[in-house]
Amino acid sequence: MAENKHPGRTAEIVVVGSANLDTTARVPRLPTPGETVLGGDTGESVGGKGANQAVAAARLGRRVALVGSVGDDPAGRRIRAALTAQGVQVDHLGSTARSGSGAALIVVDESGENMIVVSPGANSLLTASHVRAARESLARAAAVVCQLEIPEEAVVEAVRLAGGRVILNPSPVRPVPPEVMARVDVLIVNRSELGAIAGAPEPESVDGAAALASGVDGPRAVVVTLGADGALLVERDTRVHVPAVRVPAVVDPTGAGDTFCGALTDALVRGATLDDAVRWAVRAAAFAVTGAGAQSAMPTAAQLETA
Ligand code: ATP
Repeated sequence: MAENKHPGRTAEIVVVGSANLDTTARVPRLPTPGETVLGGDTGESVGGKGANQAVAAARLGRRVALVGSVGDDPAGRRIRAALTAQGVQVDHLGSTARSGSGAALIVVDESGENMIVVSPGANSLLTASHVRAARESLARAAAVVCQLEIPEEAVVEAVRLAGGRVILNPSPVRPVPPEVMARVDVLIVNRSELGAIAGAPEPESVDGAAALASGVDGPRAVVVTLGADGALLVERDTRVHVPAVRVPAVVDPTGAGDTFCGALTDALVRGATLDDAVRWAVRAAAFAVTGAGAQSAMPTAAQLETA
C-alpha cells in the first residue's frame, strides 16, 4: 500500500520485530531437564517481542506500525487479524510461503515463573530490503523500536533508517554491532541481558547493575528492568532507581518486559522526560503482571491512570 495517502495514520512508533503465535500451559511447577510435568489446558495467543511491544504502545493510545514477517498460513492470518484488532498497522508485516509463522511455547508455574522456547519461523526471513520498504514510516516516526528476535541485518537497517529516537531491547541477547549501539537512544535490558552485553556476570544488586550499565558503550541511556525490584535509569551522571509498584499477586509475568518497553516508548513519544517515562513503564508493567497472558494483560492509558 502506498504511504502518505493517510497522513492521519502516520505511525508515531514503528516497531521492527517478531510476531508469533504463542501456546501457553500453566503447570504446578516448572519441569527440570528430562522431566514431564502435567499441566492445565493450553491456550493460544499472539506474541513475539515485536508484536507485544507494538500492542503495548497501541493500547496506551499511540499510532503504531509493525514491520515484520509471518508465514502465509492460518497462524499468520490470525496474527495479522489480532494485531489489526489492537489498532497496530500491518501494511509492512509481510507474509512468506517459505516458512511457517513463528511460534513460542510457554509454561508458567503457580508462582508466576515462566520458561519459554521460541521457534522463529518466518521471523528469521525478515531482510534488510523488507525493512527498506518501510523507509518512509521509519524516517517519519518519532521512535523506532527493535528487539533481537529478527536477523541482525533487519535491525541494522531499521536503526540506519530511523528518523527519530531509537529504542533497543536486545532480547534474546547477542552481540550488537557497535554502529547500532552508537545510534541507540535508550537501551532497555534486564539483569541477565545487561551482564551479557557488559561481558560480566549478571549483577546481583541495584548498585552492581548501575555500575555495569554506566560502562555500556554507545547508548545515550540504559534502562535496566529489575523484576520485582522495579527499574533503573542510567544516563550520563544520573542514576535513578524506580521501585516496582506493589501488586496484590503476580498472576503471570509473561510480557512484563514488553509492556515496559512499549509504555516507555509511548511516554517518550508524548514528550515525557526519560525519568518520567521509566516511572510510567514501571506502572504499566506492574499492571501487566497482575493479568494472565502477555497482550491480554496490557493496560490502556485510562486503566493505568486510575490504577
Ligand atoms: P519478561 O521477559 O518476563 O517479560 P523481563 O525479564 O524482560 O521480563 P523484568 O525485569 O522481569 O523484565 O520485568 C519488567 C518490569 O516489570 C520490571 O522492571 C518491573 O517494573 C515490572 N515487574 C516485574 N515483576 C514485577 C512484580 N513482581 N511486581 C511489580 N512489578 C513487576
